[in-house]
Amino acid sequence: MSDTKTGLAIETIFSADEISERLQALAAEIASKRPQNLLVVPILKGSFVFAADLLRALYAAGLTPEVDFLTLSSYRKSRISSGQVSILRDLDLDVHHRHVILIDDVLDSGRTLAFAKDLISARGAEKIETCVLLDKRTTRAVSIEPDYCAFTCPDVFVVGYGMDVGHRYRELPFVGRLVD
Ligand code: 5GP
Ligand code: MG
Repeated sequence: MSDTKTGLAIETIFSADEISERLQALAAEIASKRPQNLLVVPILKGSFVFAADLLRALYAAGLTPEVDFLTLSSYRKSRISSGQVSILRDLDLDVHHRHVILIDDVLDSGRTLAFAKDLISARGAEKIETCVLLDKRTTRAVSIEPDYCAFTCPDVFVVGYGMDVGHRYRELPFVGRLVD
């Protein structure tokens, strides 16, 4: 598609149908491990569409997780990460003795998920796993691998399916790349 306001073209990388099909398989994989006392934590904002679809797929796969949200800063106002991660809004729930699955949109440098894992671990969670929509495997600054991953993604800046550039394009039902 092309954006009449900015003149940018958006090229589809993962279509809505591909995403939907992959999420059913991912949910089945998670459910097959029979997680107990499960708390799903989407890292906002970018993961909200992925998390909403994944949660309903988890329900269909027979799981009944609780959900709470963590808002972390990253990529603010630009396409380049500041390298610093901070908490913009914390969880309401206690994670002590729980099995927590952190949900993020993109695993890039790894700083965001590593920060979230350390935080939840320091608060006494029993088990912490990570689940990402996209893994950009070549761009890691810290050593971290996702426990669950929907797609491996090329090292390009992506938008759509919850992900933005300058607060735009989150509503797109597919993942695309901006082409200038
Ligand atoms: P990391 O801390 O792993 O470098 O970055 C992870 C965060 O940066 C993701 O949660 C996501 O919000 C953001 N991010 C990384 N790559 C992209 C991208 O290509 N597009 C968008 N919109 N956000 C990205
Ligand atoms: Mg994010």
